[in-house]
Amino acid sequence: MSFLKEINRRRTFGIIAHPDAGKTTLTEKLLLYGGAIQEAGAVKSNKIKKGATSDFMEIERQRGISVATSVLAFEYNGIKINILDTPGHKDFAEDTYRTLTAVDSVIVVVDVAKGVEEQTEKLVEVCRMRNIPMIVFVNKLDREGKDAFDLLDEIEQKLGLTVCPLSFPIGMGYDFKGIYNIWEKNVNLFSGDSRKNIEETTEIQDLDSDVLTKLVGDKAADNLREEIELVNGIYPTFDRDDYLTGKLQPVFFGSALNNFGVRELLDCFVEIAPKPRPKQSEERLVKPEEKDFTGFVFKIHANMDPNHRDRLAFIKIVSGEFKRNTPYLHVRHNKKMKFSSPNAFFAEKKQIVDISYPGDIVGLHDTGNFKIGDTLTEGEKIHYKGIPSFSPEHFRYINNADPMKSKQLYKGIDQLMDEGVAQLFTLDFNGRKVIGTVGALQYEVIQYRLEHEYGAKCTYENLNVHKACWIQTDDEKSEEFKEFLRVKQRYLARDKRNQLVFLADSMFSLQMSQQKYPSITFHMTSEFE
Ligand code: GDP
Repeated sequence: MSFLKEINRRRTFGIIAHPDAGKTTLTEKLLLYGGAIQEAGAVKSNKIKKGATSDFMEIERQRGISVATSVLAFEYNGIKINILDTPGHKDFAEDTYRTLTAVDSVIVVVDVAKGVEEQTEKLVEVCRMRNIPMIVFVNKLDREGKDAFDLLDEIEQKLGLTVCPLSFPIGMGYDFKGIYNIWEKNVNLFSGDSRKNIEETTEIQDLDSDVLTKLVGDKAADNLREEIELVNGIYPTFDRDDYLTGKLQPVFFGSALNNFGVRELLDCFVEIAPKPRPKQSEERLVKPEEKDFTGFVFKIHANMDPNHRDRLAFIKIVSGEFKRNTPYLHVRHNKKMKFSSPNAFFAEKKQIVDISYPGDIVGLHDTGNFKIGDTLTEGEKIHYKGIPSFSPEHFRYINNADPMKSKQLYKGIDQLMDEGVAQLFTLDFNGRKVIGTVGALQYEVIQYRLEHEYGAKCTYENLNVHKACWIQTDDEKSEEFKEFLRVKQRYLARDKRNQLVFLADSMFSLQMSQQKYPSITFHMTSEFE
């Protein structure tokens, strides 16, 4: 197959959802369609459950599982689909944000009864900022839930989307009869036992025909006719360009658990979802069709096997072909490296591959050379951007609890930060180290891993910080900036890239600083022009 054909047939996406909305179940059903797995239950959820916080073995076990499910690839009707795992648990949100830099589109799963939940809001906001094309899947239609129109309203209001239903439920919960596929103009009846089968659908070109009445009965047929008229009146008609530029989001309804409405979603997805998209580097826009290979690291996973300390760095291929045993430039180190056993991912397995294409993810064994955000090329010095750090929510001092092991401790902290487990800040005025995390769970994971992987011990000490803000000013010599540095001396720190960060102790002090020093910009993420 030609290089261009290989690019055009790839779809790389992530499924985002609040925990329990049905992401794992939907992933599994998609894999069933691809024939990648044979039965339900094969995809393990990598959820960190409540209460497991202190159970380290459980965390480790679950982390081990999530290595296997970091990328799931399968073929469907000649299309190569790569699903990137995005943890829904809020303590791992940072991981999800980074993964979103490697997807070309997303599917958002919403629970029909719970509606739009907190994590969905946060993750969709990140996708909206980046104009990532999104399709919404409303799940659990077999249960009583919100009225479809109310829910569509809620999705528009809370998520700031412009929805365009491409399927519509006929009844719901106990009365759930099936769905009308607006996209394909057919009706799929729900029998409740279609869990494993690929269902039969009935073509309905004209909703007024009695075919519909015969299928679902008078009342449901009339209701549907009215509802579809409303849909046509209220919502914009589907326009693929609007979808691709993030201006419009198609919505599907179904029940992942019952494998209902999933085929409709998948068939439409492979038709409309974007092939690998060009990516902006600091220097220029890079197109997938370019001959020379380029790619970037978006995730690093530690090997949980204590006999194999190496890590797996996940690279998204942006352009060209990535070949085994070929020297590539590690731009940050300005050093050529080659890889004898790059892994590709198929369903739940990984396997060594000779060649990969744009849109694909390869896993490279790493002994500590990679950091998240690193770029690999054939020689050109470009740097991919777009892997920002967000302000952590929790801050603690980290102390060395075993003075004999300080070397191990610093090495461990360094490597864990490269993996993106948490963020390290060094206070300017006394050099003390502060660990910032998105969730409290990370502190225990770090402590455990420092001890078991690096033989180092640490303790934490509370520190009252509300937010970390990255500081930007046009004039470092101005009196105003000098005064800020003097007055806020005790609250200033450096991040891993030596950028200046203000650790504001309260919302109030942040607002006061913003008012008092108008020439300074306080950024909530590390990525700004
Ligand atoms: P995740 O946290 O988003 O990965 O959610 P899961 O896929 O693990 O699903 C959470 C729970 O919802 C599980 O108990 C599923 O069996 C259940 N579930 C998923 N899809 C459906 C559905 O369509 N209908 C019903 N009734 N339950 C579902």
